[in-house]
Amino acid sequence: MQARPGALQVGSFRGVPIRVHFTLLLVLPLLAFSFGAAFQQAASAAEVPPETLGGHPLLWGLGVAVGLFVSVLLHEMAHTLYALRHGGEVHGITLMIVGGVSELAETPKRPRDEALMALVGPLTSLGLAVVLGLMTWLMHGLGAFQWQFACFTLAMLNLVLGLFNLLPAFPMDGGRIVRAALTPRLGVVKATRVAAGLGRVFAVLFGVWGVVSFNPFTLVIAFFVLMGAEAESKQVRMRVALERVKVEAMMTPRVVGVDLDLSMLDAQWALRRERVAALPVTNAGRPVGRVTWAAVQALPEPERGGRMVRDAMEDGVVVALHEDGWTALRRMAEARVPLVAVVDEEGLLAGTLDWNDLQRGMNRAEQEAERDGTRAGWQRERPA
Ligand SMILES: [Zn+2]
Repeated sequence: MQARPGALQVGSFRGVPIRVHFTLLLVLPLLAFSFGAAFQQAASAAEVPPETLGGHPLLWGLGVAVGLFVSVLLHEMAHTLYALRHGGEVHGITLMIVGGVSELAETPKRPRDEALMALVGPLTSLGLAVVLGLMTWLMHGLGAFQWQFACFTLAMLNLVLGLFNLLPAFPMDGGRIVRAALTPRLGVVKATRVAAGLGRVFAVLFGVWGVVSFNPFTLVIAFFVLMGAEAESKQVRMRVALERVKVEAMMTPRVVGVDLDLSMLDAQWALRRERVAALPVTNAGRPVGRVTWAAVQALPEPERGGRMVRDAMEDGVVVALHEDGWTALRRMAEARVPLVAVVDEEGLLAGTLDWNDLQRGMNRAEQEAERDGTRAGWQRERPA
């Protein structure tokens, strides 16, 4: 849904921004260095005589880091292509060691689609491993040791990437497959809880392994798996709760906004009266934008009376009464606004919805779900 924090944009693919997550930026130099340090062992694992390899070990390490980067990129592109082909919306590709598919504007509703979309990533990595394995063998036959070593190393990276992401736990792709498999029986919330719980178990295992083997690499991954598992289960809980509640039941009813033809001084009084940071701007009862406290503050006080709201307003976001809370939240996140205007069937202002309204609605929905006590209850809500 939202862009992951801690990611840097590096390019785009079919209009989808590609970002690099800081964990990958952290892991790449580590990998370059440790590969350079273990160069001799790596060469003998590839059955390549080390003396035939030109170039500084650290240079090879750098090459491996770049290779991992490209491998992760191809893996993520596979997820993205699958999602785009199957009518999904993708807001960004974030390159990281694990996961990466959660930046969809909308996760596939059908468990089967989610499972397949998760599967194409690891399959791409494993496919690359096979191709590179064959090339290793070919280069060996040709006596091209440098290339043999390069292909072997990349084949191993892709093999690890593919297998690691198949681990049946969040936030790995395998976790999505597990969730999709369990959803028909348990409902999406319980299924997510199971996959996220498994993620925590793996995180602890990686952590222990990292400490025992003094491997900072594994510790970074352990930490990342833990964070990813938490984030995923929180997002799903939010989605499921908000999907159950209509905007109408959560909004703050409000039929009067700030009229287009009022001054910013009037807007200031309206915002103070309502004790809010933003209000919809209306034209004959229809929302046409929003006016914010920040915009009022940006004007020197004596100028506020002479400046019209129509000249100082910002673009607004609108949801309909009958839409659900998750749709509203997504629209807010996409437009990066803290408030949406709610309209009735005629397009007239009926209320506003902000983060507090959503939070309250979510809590109420969760309490109701606890009371019904049921997975079956969740499940009935899910289209098959
Ligand atoms: Zn993946």
